Amino acid sequence: MSFHVAGVEVKPGEKHAGYRSVGSASTHEVRIPYFVVNGAKPGPVLTVLSGVHAVECTPVEAVLRLAKSVESADISGTLVLVPMVNTEGFHARKPYSNQLDHLNQNKVFPGDPMGSMTRRVAHAVFESFVSKSDYLVDCHSADLGEDATHGMFVYRTDDMDLKSRMIEMARCFDCEYIETTEISGNTGEAVRLYGIPCIMTESGAPYPIREDDVLYHYMGLRNLMRHIGMIDGEAALGDPRVDPPSRRIWAESGGLWRRKVEAGQRVKEGQLLGVVSDLHGEPLQVATAPLKGVVSFLRVHYSVNEGDTLCWVTET
Ligand SMILES: [Zn+2]
Repeated sequence: MSFHVAGVEVKPGEKHAGYRSVGSASTHEVRIPYFVVNGAKPGPVLTVLSGVHAVECTPVEAVLRLAKSVESADISGTLVLVPMVNTEGFHARKPYSNQLDHLNQNKVFPGDPMGSMTRRVAHAVFESFVSKSDYLVDCHSADLGEDATHGMFVYRTDDMDLKSRMIEMARCFDCEYIETTEISGNTGEAVRLYGIPCIMTESGAPYPIREDDVLYHYMGLRNLMRHIGMIDGEAALGDPRVDPPSRRIWAESGGLWRRKVEAGQRVKEGQLLGVVSDLHGEPLQVATAPLKGVVSFLRVHYSVNEGDTLCWVTET
């Protein structure tokens, strides 16, 4: 079946790289890069997004690698790749929100074609790609000043069939646990709007881009393509825990955060995670692991404010 996007018809057996135009900023056109790899044989439509948060570059690298390595002759169905959703944030090297309208791209889905630019981008992504998909993967890493590795989220739904399909998708990735998260303007809106399974991966830091995290996304996506019958072979499915106990450790006062652990590190109960100090370097708070598990989120900014999350430790 042909895949139509932005006035372009991509026929079965064709591979196309293009841009979906969204609108004009004061000095330039805002447009979203995409690839459509339309297999010669019929099958599901899998859409993969990255760069929803603009400095989360690790999955961008993985998606571009996938685009280069998959040809139409190799697959059944259609692979749609959108490596950089939030091009404005990328250009500005700006975390969290878009400089044009100060909105967080991952809080405005499904968007609005008459709204400000971030809402228009969201609408374009849903209208041109997500609404035509059978499966959606939204690939993230930690944002600026944060670190996370081998993370996985599925969306909360009362539809048990959809939930189990999301968990199966997640099991294609090398993760030890899955967290369930609310649908709230993120790409999980696809679950509610179109009834399609959607997962969100989270692995990597803005810099440096670590190869292990690129491979987490890349190998997981290839394994998922095997699982849903897009490429030949048997998928290897893991057995991650769903919503294991997890504890947040937060800064009790502002100051310097001298962390003693890495994202993904296994820690014992009571193990030193780091120390918050005042601006004379005197310790104010000694942060220790409240349970045995893995550091699932880590603040890596040296500067912390009272109330900031220093880390999450998730039981494994
Ligand atoms: Zn993100």
